[in-house]
Amino acid sequence: MKKAYNFNAGPCVLPKPAIEAAIEALKDFKGTGMSVIEVSHRSKEWEAVMDECRALWKELLNIPDGYSVLFLGGGASLQFLYVAMNLLENKAGYLETGVWAKKALKEAKGIGNAYAVASSADKNYTYIPKGYEIPSDLDYFHITTNNTIKGTEIHEDMDCPVPLVADMSSDIMSRPVDVSKYALIYGGAQKNVGPAGVVFVIVKDEILGKVSRYLPTMLDYRTHIEGASMFNTPPVFSIFVMTETLKWVKAQGGVAAMYELNKKKAKMLYDEIDRNPLFVGTAAKEDRSLMNVCFVMAPGHEDLQDEFLAFAKEKGMVGIKGHRSVGGFRASIYNACPIEAVEALIACMQEFERMHK
Ligand SMILES: *Cc1c(COP(=O)(O)O)cnc(C)c1O
Repeated sequence: MKKAYNFNAGPCVLPKPAIEAAIEALKDFKGTGMSVIEVSHRSKEWEAVMDECRALWKELLNIPDGYSVLFLGGGASLQFLYVAMNLLENKAGYLETGVWAKKALKEAKGIGNAYAVASSADKNYTYIPKGYEIPSDLDYFHITTNNTIKGTEIHEDMDCPVPLVADMSSDIMSRPVDVSKYALIYGGAQKNVGPAGVVFVIVKDEILGKVSRYLPTMLDYRTHIEGASMFNTPPVFSIFVMTETLKWVKAQGGVAAMYELNKKKAKMLYDEIDRNPLFVGTAAKEDRSLMNVCFVMAPGHEDLQDEFLAFAKEKGMVGIKGHRSVGGFRASIYNACPIEAVEALIACMQEFERMHK
């Protein structure tokens, strides 16, 4: 098989054991003589996967009692709407830290009174706003913990005077999180916990049921809590691979171990970006993402961008081209990205530097 160092932003690299288990389960799911995509989602074999998946979420993130864990379809983008429909009665505040945050805010504005409490749009979302005050009369405050496109990240669980809602699509399970500080956490699986097609939602039960609008059955979180994420047919294959991915995270030592490795990988790459005279990072240093490392050619070397992309491609690097709205480079180094891939990218940058001495 061709060797690829996969830095794609999402869908992205997944643990090899999860892929292997998926291949096996496609052929024969738990000795049923059927593929995992052929069995009934009401079978005991399938229900065991759902239970295991929920249990892994609870264990790995230390989720306290009083929270439900849901697996839904529709992508994180549909959660932008879900959140507003289920929680917005009078007023909601958003921290506008990037493209995804802005999209989340747009959906909320379509539902009711929602606004940006603070924004980093003035500097093209290259930093995380600080020193703002969260009004205490909000129904909720929404943050995007990792700005996948611009490579900034909120590194700590903040104290919040109102229910805190977080889109953690691209940094979930990358570090320990104090779930008790959040009212709701959601994200698409395809960045760090599985393939596309399933969304995770961790919701504090007591925050639901407080809005006066009609909630369509499928857009009411309570439907899916009551149905244990099986009100309708769940995305079985995506959930299966997510479960295997979480088993792998657990086998690595859990999120604390992932966090140590993620810090190490990110430091190696940022150190090289800071050292190498041909490259420069684009995110504010204190807000640099551990997951998505964004950089460009240093001033005076802009004309080398395409050459570097071609050179890196030649060396087996995949997916390092920056988001189409940004340009430059982005290396997504999620949990399953091995340290060897980061080393290979660094070696590639160093060799490119030598070629241009
Ligand atoms: C990718 C991403 C989304 C969108 O996810 P979909 O599942 O494609 O809708 C939302 N928020 C963040 C932070 C993302 O990285």
